[in-house]
Amino acid sequence: MPEYQVDLRDVRFTLFEHLKIQNLGNRPLFEDQDQELYDSVLVESERLNRTVVSPLNEIGDREGIRFEDGKVYSPEAYHVAYKTLSGSGWVGMAADPKWGGMGFPQVMSAASAEMCMGACVSFMFTPGLAAAAARVIAECGSRELAETYVKRMFLGEWAGTMCLTEPHAGTAVGDTRTSAVRQSDGSYLLSGTKIFISQGDHDLTDNIIHLVLARTPDAPVGTKGLSLFLVPKVLLNEDGTLGDPNDVACVSVEEKMGIHGSSTCTMGFGENGNCKGWIIGEEGAGMKHMFLMMNEARIEVGLQGVGIGNAAYQLALNYAKERVQGTRVEDMRDPNAERVTIIDHPNVRRMLMECKALGEGIRALCYRTALAIDNSRTAEDEKEREREKALVELLTPVVKAYSSEAGFRMTDLAMQILGGAGYIKDYGVEQHMRDVRIAAIYEGTNSIQALDLIGRKLPRAGGRDFMNVVSQFDRTVEDLKNHPILGKAAQSFAETKDKLVACTMALAGYQMQNDMRYPVQICKQYLELFGDMLLAWLLLQQAEIAHDRFHQILEEDPDRTAKDHPELRFYDAKVKTAQFFVSQFLPRARANAARIESGDRSAIEVTF
Ligand SMILES: Cc1cc2nc3c(=O)[nH]c(=O)nc-3n(C[C@H](O)[C@H](O)[C@H](O)COP(=O)(O)OP(=O)(O)OC[C@H]3O[C@@H](n4cnc5c(N)ncnc54)[C@H](O)[C@@H]3O)c2cc1C
Repeated sequence: MPEYQVDLRDVRFTLFEHLKIQNLGNRPLFEDQDQELYDSVLVESERLNRTVVSPLNEIGDREGIRFEDGKVYSPEAYHVAYKTLSGSGWVGMAADPKWGGMGFPQVMSAASAEMCMGACVSFMFTPGLAAAAARVIAECGSRELAETYVKRMFLGEWAGTMCLTEPHAGTAVGDTRTSAVRQSDGSYLLSGTKIFISQGDHDLTDNIIHLVLARTPDAPVGTKGLSLFLVPKVLLNEDGTLGDPNDVACVSVEEKMGIHGSSTCTMGFGENGNCKGWIIGEEGAGMKHMFLMMNEARIEVGLQGVGIGNAAYQLALNYAKERVQGTRVEDMRDPNAERVTIIDHPNVRRMLMECKALGEGIRALCYRTALAIDNSRTAEDEKEREREKALVELLTPVVKAYSSEAGFRMTDLAMQILGGAGYIKDYGVEQHMRDVRIAAIYEGTNSIQALDLIGRKLPRAGGRDFMNVVSQFDRTVEDLKNHPILGKAAQSFAETKDKLVACTMALAGYQMQNDMRYPVQICKQYLELFGDMLLAWLLLQQAEIAHDRFHQILEEDPDRTAKDHPELRFYDAKVKTAQFFVSQFLPRARANAARIESGDRSAIEVTF
């Protein structure tokens, strides 16, 4: 199985040349941090993920987890790797140092998470869920709960889960039946069954802290009646040491298509009437608090698309440079012509370019969103903090849905590039394809992300958040419209932007007339259209920077060419990537606009 590879040059370009995250070092939370420090973190993260995490990928897939006598055992190899990773502080990379965190920005954590997802996504569940659950407890829980649990979770000593799904309540979380009854000492007794709980049980840590959505007696129906509870697998003694087991049982584990190294559990809470939990925040505020975890998890799922998609692309690129097959198309009638590597074939190049454009585009989208989280917390100007917070809200469903699908598409293209070798296990591509497929389903299916986008995010503040993004699109068009190389692409981008705005108005029009069925039918196409535009915008920004850097290098050293200078090659490829994306993906965006504008209701009206 080939080792994990990431294009660190592109990661660095996106972080330092495009998003300029080193400027965060001027802000109070990130004082004393600079590009050199961030770069050393990237190098170490790449090394750890390549050497420690990546070897787990094939082992976890082959061995899977073991379920015996009600207990889940993780693949043996995961234990040492988990100790190494948690022992060096990676779980709490973006957490406040007062909670045992390293205090890095979210955007750095995103870059590191991308690598871990690409190296072995099943392994990433434990640290990822622990950090996300700990953040909810720190921000929404009582001081006592925070002091008892948060540090040990960010240090990786204890793991976490998120427990929403029930047999009859998947997408419809408001139908949750698990109950929680308050006791005289302020704790609650929980009772109910949750299904599909990732890492619901495992043996990587001594304790697992479940965050469980449940309904208190007499609570209103629907999501407003839900509260969030902290339910430890093992109860604590007065002095904080581990005590008796709580009444929490892993009833069964699922057999599934991919992510075999992670457990997907049916969890019984209170089967013996004695499951103790503690409320996080107020009764009835459960969804609000759980959304904190879900929004973070949605960005993480987007990063699964980035990590796995790009890992598959690197495998395909290496393979295409080595696999010899056929002759150049110009020589196809000459049986004695030189045999070439498949990277010489234009159709293979087109598939590689599609992977590259999608992979670099979703990386930029996810990192930009993570940076917006940092800006929303630390920007000096209050208006900017608010704008960036709104940007996170608007982009989160797109990050989750668009990146997960792009990641899957990249694994599909990578498999095609490898031909038969892609379909067999030895090269790792088929595992990536199976592993990434779930990303479009969990954390709210991609259709639900699209619903969230058109139903909640676009109408916010009278559409102001969306129009702020459109103004940024306009600024890029203004910058590039007379550009010698990128002017034509900017023109195409501007025309498609007009289509996006028209579709947004049209969907709002339907909603204003209380016609919800049509927008809901077509919202997924809208999300793809918006996502294509976001990627085109970010890739055009990158291309402008790359074009300038290319010419600076040539001015300093006019004899160099892209052939003998890796940096020239990199910048030249960046410009071409944006041109490719605009010419190959914006027609898809315009086709989606045409679908939306068609008003066709046959799918709604047909009798199946
Ligand atoms: C491997 C794995 C790990 C998971 N991990 C967790 C976890 O850790 N914690 C947890 O709580 N859950 C977890 N889940 C559950 C996951 O989040 C749900 O499967 C997902 O939210 C969809 O719910 P469902 O499966 O019940 O599908 P359903 O809700 O039955 O949906 C089926 C289809 O109908 C569509 N649909 C449903 N309702 C609507 C609607 N109102 N409008 C439009 N379309 C709709 C959906 O988009 C989907 O296409 C996991 C699932 C898997 C498979």
